[in-house]
Amino acid sequence: MMDIQNYIGGELRPPASGRYLDNFEPATGELYSRVPSSDASDLEAAVDAAQSGFLAWSQTPAEERSRVMLSLAEGIEARAEELALAESKDNGKPVSLARTLDIPRASANLRFFAAAATQFFSESHQMEMGAINYTLRQPTGIVGTISPWNLPLYLFTWKIAPALAAGNAVIAKPSELTPMTAYLFSTICRDVGLPAGVLNVVHGEGAVIGQRLVEHERVSSISFTGGTVTGRAVARTAAPMFKKLSLELGGKNPTLVFADAVFEDAVEGAVRAAFSNQGEICLCGSRILVESSIYERFRDAFVERVSTLLVGDPNASSTQQGAVVSEAHMNKILGCIELAREEGGTVLVGGERVRPPGRCENGWFVAPTVVEGLGPSCRTNREEIFGPVVTLMPFDTEAQALDAANATDYGLACSIWSQDISRCHRLAAGIHSGLVWINTWMLRDLRTPMGGMKQSGVGREGGFEALRFFTEPKNVCIKYG
Ligand code: NAP
Repeated sequence: MMDIQNYIGGELRPPASGRYLDNFEPATGELYSRVPSSDASDLEAAVDAAQSGFLAWSQTPAEERSRVMLSLAEGIEARAEELALAESKDNGKPVSLARTLDIPRASANLRFFAAAATQFFSESHQMEMGAINYTLRQPTGIVGTISPWNLPLYLFTWKIAPALAAGNAVIAKPSELTPMTAYLFSTICRDVGLPAGVLNVVHGEGAVIGQRLVEHERVSSISFTGGTVTGRAVARTAAPMFKKLSLELGGKNPTLVFADAVFEDAVEGAVRAAFSNQGEICLCGSRILVESSIYERFRDAFVERVSTLLVGDPNASSTQQGAVVSEAHMNKILGCIELAREEGGTVLVGGERVRPPGRCENGWFVAPTVVEGLGPSCRTNREEIFGPVVTLMPFDTEAQALDAANATDYGLACSIWSQDISRCHRLAAGIHSGLVWINTWMLRDLRTPMGGMKQSGVGREGGFEALRFFTEPKNVCIKYG
């Protein structure tokens, strides 16, 4: 049984209390490692380490910070296969997905922000009366980053990379459900010689160590990605302390398919948006709205395509759908399918737990599920499921499609499939979401603002937005007479 360790002050350390939490492999349901159950004393040690790390790192020239971050990216690339296998085992996702998405993106995050560190700039404002203002952009100090289990190393690095690029010291708290790749990354930091205390990784329960991190008086800012309910708790603690706060929360994203879309592209795009990573991506399109004139044709093609998705052992190269992250999450998803039935929905495909034969027989798998017959205002169409469950709904007019698309409390992402460019622009402007894709889904340019509106969050990540979040602007005004 492997024991994961915290990474504090440049060293791998057991939790001060000696207490650990169990860590399971979702594909088999078996216990395979233990994760530190850190408490306030571990956090105190991390804050002390980060304090000295910050003194050195914030004075380190941007080019040197960039060089160190590039060696972290190289460290990931050198151990890419080990990391992909670990991510798949810890999370349940197909190893093929971890190889092509999670791990390459983790190193890309570090490379991108290593470059950005040397490109960041600040503004100056000339006044006609003979004065000039310039803005200093200084690191905020010790920042706390809290990341979820769905894209573990991908989202962990998406937060720490801009924080480090801007000259901050970081205390990172990965999800207790998927701690392994953050731990392996700690060993990369140690091997690469990241200066002690610049990054500290403290594992444990969100409600304990996550909460303590948010409320610690020496932590200046919090970058959080996770569920809306947790985000609200984080805001409740951090806001009265006037901390800088970035919240990337849940979604209930619409996919809009118009009759003039390239049909095969729309079917394929909607399948990918619905079921990538078992539907456990905040950007997944879980409400598919289809123009009535092609509704039946689209539904039949979509259901046929979904029924070919291979659910099974994440290690098999043919597997397209792996396990969901935990038994509790599987039961939540199955409960949502039950609710959809109670609300009057018809399950067209899926709708149950899958038990792949062999080593994964007791794993936590859910069949990709498609439901029809529900209106936009029912709970199934308003609440985030975060699993392989989608609904199909017809619409008659563009206005109806827009109303249905906006009929949730979330506002993260949307994809529109149509060849009418004017309509696409109109809808893009009218949709209440932070991201709009037209004739594509999850095509990401790391320079662009990433985040949601309404209950999907506050603030944006990505590019210079992230560097602005992780710096404090200070205006300096000089009168030269
Ligand atoms: P979660 O339960 O909210 O947990 C997110 C992180 O917060 C985990 O590290 C968790 O630790 C920690 N945490 C839990 N309670 C906390 C507290 N009281 N104070 C501080 N930290 C606390 O979310 P999840 O289930 O891991 O992730 C799924 C959710 O994330 C979905 O809603 C999804 O839409 C959202 N998400 C959003 C984005 C985006 O960019 N908008 C991206 C990915 C995911 P433990 O796991 O140890 O409890």
